[in-house]
Amino acid sequence: MADQVLIVGSGPAGITAAIYAARADLKPVMIEGFQRGGQLMLTTDVENYPGFPDGIMGPELMEQFRKQAERFGTRIITSDVTKVDFSSRPFKAWVGDDLFEAESVIISTGASARWLGVTGEEKLRGYGVSACATCDGFFFRDKEIAVVGGGDSAMEEALFLTKFASRVTIIHRRDEFRASKIMANRALEHPKIEVVWNSTVDEIVGSDAVTGIKVRNVETDVVTDLSLDGVFVAIGHDPNTEVFGDQMETDEKGYILIGENTMTSVEGVFAAGDVVDKVYRQAITAAGMGCEAAIDAERWLEAQHG
Ligand code: NAP
Repeated sequence: MADQVLIVGSGPAGITAAIYAARADLKPVMIEGFQRGGQLMLTTDVENYPGFPDGIMGPELMEQFRKQAERFGTRIITSDVTKVDFSSRPFKAWVGDDLFEAESVIISTGASARWLGVTGEEKLRGYGVSACATCDGFFFRDKEIAVVGGGDSAMEEALFLTKFASRVTIIHRRDEFRASKIMANRALEHPKIEVVWNSTVDEIVGSDAVTGIKVRNVETDVVTDLSLDGVFVAIGHDPNTEVFGDQMETDEKGYILIGENTMTSVEGVFAAGDVVDKVYRQAITAAGMGCEAAIDAERWLEAQHG
C-alpha cells in the first residue's frame, strides 16, 4: 500500500516537514540522501537560528532536527532517490530498484554549491580546490588561500579559514560585496584577509596540488599570477532538481515553482526550502516552508479522502 507522505531531502525543510507530518499521524517516509542534513552539515557556527543564544554548530543542529523527526516515527531511508514518476497517483520514487509509492510528496532537496568552470578546477578538486571550508579548512594550516565570491558564504568561508591559513585573499568580480554589512565588515576588518576587487579567476594552476591562480582584472583585462595553496569557491548554489526532470514546472534555473501554497504544478506534490526559494535561503525560512508543506499536504490528503 502507498504511504501517505514521501519526503525527499533532509535539510531544515525536509526534517521540519517530517516532524509536522509525523505529528499529524501521516507516518512519513523521508529519503534523506547520502549527504543527509543539507547545507548546514557543511557549515560551522549558526548564530541566527532562534533558540540558540550562544550559537550552535550546523551539524549538531541538524542532528537535533533529525532526532526530533525520528522521535515522532518518521521512517528514514539513507539513500538518494534515483528516479521518480509523478505522472499518476500514487506517485512513484525509486532508490535503485526499490520502489516507494505515496499519495503525496514533499520535495526538499535543497541546493548545491556552484563551481567556476575554469581550467584546473575539476582536476584539482580535493587537491586544493574546495567548496567547503568546514570540510577542508583543516588541511590548510599556515597556507595561503583564495576565496572566490562576494556573498555571505564567501565571507563566512574566508573568516573560518583564517583559523588555519596564514593569509586569505577574497577574489570578487565587483567593487562591493553582496554580503550583509555585518559579515562584510568582519571580513574587511580581519588582519589575515585581503580583497582583490573587480577580478575573476581565469585558471587554477597546479599539476597534483594547487600552486596558484591566474586572476583577471575585469576593468583593465590584466592577468596576474598569484601563488597560493588552496582555492575555496563560494559563488552561490544551484537547486537539486535534476532527478525530477521535467515532471513539474521550474524556472529557467531549475528552481521548482509553487502556487499559492507550497503545491507544485503537480497536484499532490509539494516543495519547500532552497529547492524553491532563491531569495531568503536561510535555515529558518526553509524550516518554516517545510512546516507549510506538511500542513498543505495534510489538508490536501484530507480533502482527497473526503
Ligand atoms: P550569493 O549571495 O548568491 O553570492 C554569490 C556571490 O558569488 C556573489 O557575490 C556573486 O557576485 C559571486 N559570483 C556568482 N557567480 C560567480 C562567478 N561565476 N564568478 C565569480 N563570482 C561569482 O550566494 P551565497 O553567498 O552562497 O549566499 C546565498 C544565501 O545564503 C544568501 O541569501 C546569504 O545571505 C545566505 N547565507 C547567509 C549566511 C549567514 O547569515 N551567516 C551564510 C551564508 C549564506 P555578484 O555579487 O557580482 O553577483
